[in-house]
Amino acid sequence: MPTGPKHVHCYLAGGTLFDTGLGLSDAPWAAVEAERIAITHFHPDHVGGAEAAARATGAPVFQGGLDYAQCERVWGSDDWPERIASWFVRHGAPDGVAEDLIAQGHAFAPFIRYAVDPNLLYEGSVVDGWQVIELPGHADGHLGFLRDDVLIGGDHLLQKISPAVGLYPESRPDPLGDYLASLERTIELAPRIVYPGHGEPIPDAAARARELIEHHRLRLDDTAEALGVEQRSAYEISLDVFGADLGPTQRRFAVAETLSHLERLVREGRAGRGEDDQRVFYTGP
Ligand SMILES: [Zn+2]
Repeated sequence: MPTGPKHVHCYLAGGTLFDTGLGLSDAPWAAVEAERIAITHFHPDHVGGAEAAARATGAPVFQGGLDYAQCERVWGSDDWPERIASWFVRHGAPDGVAEDLIAQGHAFAPFIRYAVDPNLLYEGSVVDGWQVIELPGHADGHLGFLRDDVLIGGDHLLQKISPAVGLYPESRPDPLGDYLASLERTIELAPRIVYPGHGEPIPDAAARARELIEHHRLRLDDTAEALGVEQRSAYEISLDVFGADLGPTQRRFAVAETLSHLERLVREGRAGRGEDDQRVFYTGP
């Protein structure tokens, strides 16, 4: 991958190919003996190669129902970079940042070639013995695939990095609340091992889930501390929480992540939200 963490895992298990990487022209799909392709979530590094993988292998594609609806809404139109940029401006991003977002969004688009009209999956669906588990948070329609005590986890759980949980336009209103509930569910499921989209396999999923819950509890406190009587945008607050020295991509994640924490704080009664014609603001409770 051109950006961090520089790689993504696709797994082939018992004839099922899980995830397809970015849509790169030299991917060796013809050599992969896949009977079916399952997608954990619609982010470019997981779904981008789905069309090419399906064409080369002849395998049908399975994707979450909610996830595919979002996939079409976001990647199926030409103006997503403009839509997301104007949304960031509404949350306080300066114009220069918005222009970078637009340029970057269009540069990335050729690598996102999802498969049209996949077989849709929901909680309780089964794909060749793999039980479908809805694990919203990192993406609204994120799926995990559980068989015996092995979980193909996509980006729901990563060992070294905290999976990004951001609020984006046209998505569920409280992604961090969703994510914390999915982490609790992971503790209950207690899979013996999780094969993640990035990094090494995770041997103690429940322990990692507890660490991530604690990480977000501390970040919620940091975010709450940045609030007061003064009306501040999510962009301004992200400078406090994540620092001022970030490139455009990292800043985009920081603002979206700040927003998911702010919206959780609003629901917990620890923050207030207001808006006018141009901007959305947050304050203390
Ligand atoms: Zn990923």
